[in-house]
Amino acid sequence: MLTDGVFIALGSNVGDRERYISQAIDFLAAEVGIMVLKQSRSIETEPVGPIEQGLFLNAVIEISTALSPKDLLAKCLAIEERLGRIRTERWGPRTIDLDIVLFGNEVIDEAYLTIPHRELLNRNFVLAPLAEIAPEARHPLLGVTASEMLIGQT
Ligand code: ATP
Ligand code: CA
Ligand code: CA
Repeated sequence: MLTDGVFIALGSNVGDRERYISQAIDFLAAEVGIMVLKQSRSIETEPVGPIEQGLFLNAVIEISTALSPKDLLAKCLAIEERLGRIRTERWGPRTIDLDIVLFGNEVIDEAYLTIPHRELLNRNFVLAPLAEIAPEARHPLLGVTASEMLIGQT
């Protein structure tokens, strides 16, 4: 079964940020069971939270996938590792961060995987690129579109 309306947020604030983002997309596209359909522009954003760190580049892609949410998360974490991400402190600097934002209409509330992403409504840096490529994508619990979430945020 293929699931459409799957969105992944990418973020990088270490090294050649644009290259980490494009490599992560290439690695995702090379996976069996993942088709990359759309890519937003990358936007530069201020880091959020208590840690002093460099500016981020953020982007969102739309994929269609035959994978389960859990298997997609495993692929994302493996690609982060392959691109040299080292987890030190939470919300610290990273070569690449891959978060599953939406997975069609699926709702998952586990410690290791929450979909829709639990911070989606609070994050302009995800909502803006999401609304750019999929203004009509809907939050499965709230029923609002990406555009509406972005307006609600700003
Ligand atoms: P935030 O989740 O606030 O964006 P972060 O991305 O910096 O913070 P990470 O260290 O990258 O946090 O991820 C910690 C864990 O979050 C992952 O190992 C994963 O199991 C879990 N997680 C829960 N929901 C998701 C999701 N929707 N997408 C990706 N990871 C998720
Ligand atoms: Ca994140
Ligand atoms: Ca993450």
